[in-house]
Amino acid sequence: MQTTIRSAVTFEGVGLHSGAPARMTIRPASAEHGIWFKRTDIRLGDAMIPARWNVVEVSPLCTQIVNRAGVAVSTIEHVMAALAGCGVHNALIEIDGPEVPILDGSAAPFVRAILSRGVRQLDAPVRAIEILAPVAIQTPKGWARLEPGQGLSMDFHISFSDAAIGEQNRRMNLANGAFVRELCDSRTFCRAADIEAMRAAGKARGGTYENAVVVEGDRILSPGGLRHADEAVRHKMLDALGDLALAGLPILGHYTGHKAGHAITNALLHELFAHPEAYRLVTCDAVQAARLPGVGVEVEAVPEVA
Ligand SMILES: [Zn+2]
Repeated sequence: MQTTIRSAVTFEGVGLHSGAPARMTIRPASAEHGIWFKRTDIRLGDAMIPARWNVVEVSPLCTQIVNRAGVAVSTIEHVMAALAGCGVHNALIEIDGPEVPILDGSAAPFVRAILSRGVRQLDAPVRAIEILAPVAIQTPKGWARLEPGQGLSMDFHISFSDAAIGEQNRRMNLANGAFVRELCDSRTFCRAADIEAMRAAGKARGGTYENAVVVEGDRILSPGGLRHADEAVRHKMLDALGDLALAGLPILGHYTGHKAGHAITNALLHELFAHPEAYRLVTCDAVQAARLPGVGVEVEAVPEVA
């Protein structure tokens, strides 16, 4: 069945890129509502923004969605990953600023709060997008592909010249709460060498050594070090889950990301929906529904983090 969060939960913090403070509340929603954001600080005109692939404004550093009135909310990917990873299909996310609070840079605070409130079943069957044929996006920077598979599974590869990240590969099946146990606490990361350029471009204003893993060569500059030896590739998979959630329904298929980022994953969804023969909408049977991310997860499964 479709689900929503059992009761509202509020987060407060600053945006990673804007540095702007925001208060954000995830509220329950009815079946077939999907995930929507509402800018509560916008009094005139349309403040509702659907969390959908076709309203994404491409940015290399985060995922931003913009409605027809030009009202935007950015850095939605971690809370979107948390909702997808907890199996929440319907929610209204009210926010009084332009950017989702970065909190600790991972999705764990969102996941912990959602699972603490609980996930409630609604009176409608869950539908999904079943991948029938491969679609891919190739760019000089990297590539991504979706192909048929049971449930949602992922392969991710990253390669950085900084030895603290280097080459990392991970493959996982996102059924059985794997996102909550293995991915949700991995934080955003960046290279120290890139901070100055990001700041000059007006980005990373809310970034700290606590809410992002900062690396320089073979050193981790963030105090406390890493939460996982391969935290960087885990975070990229977290981002990919959040970006794929903008399909609007869970995906039944296998995703491969090779040095892919937000723009490539969004382009992949555009490619998918441009090829009606590559997918079909299905009402999940019991076997398919049992393989969706978030089925059977408990708040105790969220890793303890400092
Ligand atoms: Zn991220």
